[in-house]
Amino acid sequence: MKLTVIGYWGAYPEKNEATSCYLLQDENTNILLDCGSGAVAQLQNYIELAEIDAVIITHYHHDHIADLGVLTYSRIVDMNLGKTDRPLHIFAHDKDAEAFQQLSKKPFAEAFAYHAEKNGMPFTIGSLQFTFHPTNHPVPCFAVKAHSQDGSIIAYTGDTAYDESLIPFLKNVDLLITESSFYEGQDAKPFGHMNSKESGILGYKSNVKYLLLSHLPHFGNHQQLITESCKYYSGKISHARGGMVWTSE
Ligand SMILES: [Zn+2]
Ligand SMILES: [Zn+2]
Repeated sequence: MKLTVIGYWGAYPEKNEATSCYLLQDENTNILLDCGSGAVAQLQNYIELAEIDAVIITHYHHDHIADLGVLTYSRIVDMNLGKTDRPLHIFAHDKDAEAFQQLSKKPFAEAFAYHAEKNGMPFTIGSLQFTFHPTNHPVPCFAVKAHSQDGSIIAYTGDTAYDESLIPFLKNVDLLITESSFYEGQDAKPFGHMNSKESGILGYKSNVKYLLLSHLPHFGNHQQLITESCKYYSGKISHARGGMVWTSE
């Protein structure tokens, strides 16, 4: 399994960068986790847009879906040019029925719902199996976990306040992409987010092998997020940067 950070900012992208978007690749499967603002421009540094099989959306906030519409337009162009004959598959929750309805643009893009009620029921995209778990955020949002046939597991919190119900879901994963939207001492909970201390504790209690802090703030020094998380978590840790790559061993 290979994961490339395409965008990692919370709220809006800094100059020439993007908000939440991660390219997950395994064998011949190419999947996006979220598709935030600026993602489509950044993605083309790493992959042809026509080669993307599916997009998984954690929730409908703009910093996670802003470029999904234009990614769908690229598929319309690419299918008309004969670059691919495969529609873009979009996996999202349908707790917001109106937003979900707008995702499908048949025959170019087709949306599929995943449901909280089916938490324990993995579904498959290409060579990967996925499961979901609801997070603690002002709108319905789901953490995502991907299992590869090589045995490696990665998880992504999406957006969430610190919530111990996530720990069994995240337990022992090889890579956890966790949001870390604030610094230690700042109260992130009213915004449905976590600070660096909470991200560190989540990584520690979940016993994850690698903790990647992402959904980063537009203030302070990101290195400080690492220093603060490391007081509570002693495994491997980084903060996200555009183009950063993680691969399973
Ligand atoms: Zn967000
Ligand atoms: Zn959000």
